[in-house]
Amino acid sequence: MLDPKIKADFERQGYRIVGNHSAVKVCLWCKKSITGKDKCYKNTFYGIQSHRCIQSSVSLLNCTHKCEFCWRCLDFTVPKSVENPDNPSFILDGLIRGHKESLQGFKGNKDVTKKLFNEAMNPRHVALSLAGEATLYPYLPALLEEIQKRKMTSFLVTNGTMPEMLEKLLKHKPTQLYITLPAPDEETYKRTCKPLLKDSWQLLMKSLALLHKFGRGTVRLTLVKGLNMINPEGYAELIKKAKPLFVELKAAMPVGYAQYRMAYEQMPSHAEILDFAKKICTETGLKTVDEKPNSRVVLLMKKDKKSRKIKL
Ligand code: SF4
Repeated sequence: MLDPKIKADFERQGYRIVGNHSAVKVCLWCKKSITGKDKCYKNTFYGIQSHRCIQSSVSLLNCTHKCEFCWRCLDFTVPKSVENPDNPSFILDGLIRGHKESLQGFKGNKDVTKKLFNEAMNPRHVALSLAGEATLYPYLPALLEEIQKRKMTSFLVTNGTMPEMLEKLLKHKPTQLYITLPAPDEETYKRTCKPLLKDSWQLLMKSLALLHKFGRGTVRLTLVKGLNMINPEGYAELIKKAKPLFVELKAAMPVGYAQYRMAYEQMPSHAEILDFAKKICTETGLKTVDEKPNSRVVLLMKKDKKSRKIKL
């Protein structure tokens, strides 16, 4: 059960709390998409319809890191599995309800067509990436099954410190699995993520070694100038070992509580992200296959494929 003060703080930031440890929040791109103005980079890269995407967390306070670029308030960090976990179908019902309720205000908005509104009321995608570490939710395999049963797609983002959970997920795969690679070496990792588990770097390496077993394995670099945007050769070595289908390089954004930890000037420009990507490409043989300049993100692949766009 969330402490009422913590719950109020999340609600002030626009989160809708579901049960004891989950939440949904309509993101900027969802709002832009329903009004026909723009879409999230996940639409550009993978075809996800942003107004039908539920941005969610199933482990609001649980995480094994305290990353400098995290949006959460790091004062509330529980570095262990969720206690008294809610049931997966109860969580999914609540996330869908929260997404739909949050968008009710768009009904009647002159920029929102009936088609877009109706589509938004029938969400098709769950992004488990909002805050907290989803692999600390013990029923995650069953939740992913439940999402699939409802003919929805799922993107799961993990910090890679729970390889035992990833082993379990091999039988219950998300549509796309992201592992955040926050540093090119252990020392930078410790500085960037303040890991709370012993041997965290080794756990992350173990998870990276599993990534190729997930069909749409993705390595994500969240880059902060003056912190972890160094040593592209080091990143390249780790990427070569992990053999992901996709690599995303994205500028860390000083939003949420991250604005108190990183300065605006530490956010790389799109040109700087492209330049860093080029260095990684030289080392790995990967190519830049897509980009979204206003999100400061680029996508690398060995060879572009039509199938990177998911058919819903
Ligand atoms: S792993 Fe994710 S949720 Fe945990 S501290 Fe880092 S950014 Fe925040």
